[in-house]
Amino acid sequence: MKHLLLALAFLASTAAAGPLKVVCTVTDLGWLAAEVGGDDVEIIVLCPGEYDPHFLPAKPSLARKLGKADLLCYNGLELEVGWLPVLIDKARNTKVRDGQSGHLDCAHALEHILEVPEGEISRAQGDVHPHGNPHYLLDPRNGILVAHLMAERMAELRPELADGFRDRADALEADLLPRIAAWEGAAASPRAHPLVHYTKQWEYLEAWLGLACLGAVEHRPGISPSPRHVDELVTQAKYAGVTQLIAAPWNHLDIGQKAADRMGASLVILPAAVDSQDGADSYPAMFDLILTRLTTAEED
Ligand SMILES: [Zn+2]
Repeated sequence: MKHLLLALAFLASTAAAGPLKVVCTVTDLGWLAAEVGGDDVEIIVLCPGEYDPHFLPAKPSLARKLGKADLLCYNGLELEVGWLPVLIDKARNTKVRDGQSGHLDCAHALEHILEVPEGEISRAQGDVHPHGNPHYLLDPRNGILVAHLMAERMAELRPELADGFRDRADALEADLLPRIAAWEGAAASPRAHPLVHYTKQWEYLEAWLGLACLGAVEHRPGISPSPRHVDELVTQAKYAGVTQLIAAPWNHLDIGQKAADRMGASLVILPAAVDSQDGADSYPAMFDLILTRLTTAEED
């Protein structure tokens, strides 16, 4: 009888708790959290896929969404520095404050962070991320690391559901590994030529796939490039036989197109996040589309 009562009390507490309410800052994290959480979570994403996550307006409606969360998963490395601290402050939800178990900096999953600056950085360099390059989710191996980190944190918040979270993270890894090998194989043709990117965003993708990048059109992030810089890059790109200038959908594509034309290269607009373009409606679909675009443009 005592055991039955305990069991009933346990069931009642789980039912009352309901699904874990997870707020993710960006769509890639939203997709990963949904995979790991399954039916045991409710996911809300703050920054829609087609928005540049560096510059999301910190609207009160977003703070209200965060106010109801059990767990906040964010990219970190200051990607969201312009808006997330404001939202956390306005949300009045102690669960998601720094230091609480409902506050998860997904960059803590990483084994390697690219471009951690050495020495002083100044505003003259543009919008440089002081703790290193935050665009790590464009390497799917990092997506796997993040999925496991999410599973552990969800397990901490809902111990009775821990096995499910961990099993789903393992299943996601098993699904992604053969895809990763296929994407790496598909990158052979784009590897034949160096590329140029519009602005800093693609370093993890390039490092993972072994793509050589000659430089950025917007070399100081967030600051319009000087005509002299573009002239120099165009000269270098022509000399090196660059065939592709890659850009995110939210970049200044008019400037990118002009530079690509002068280089004799194609402007290749890649999904920089889940849901940033049609067809990129999942994390694997985003990489499928990236590799398709890179290889198709190569054959033009
Ligand atoms: Zn950035």
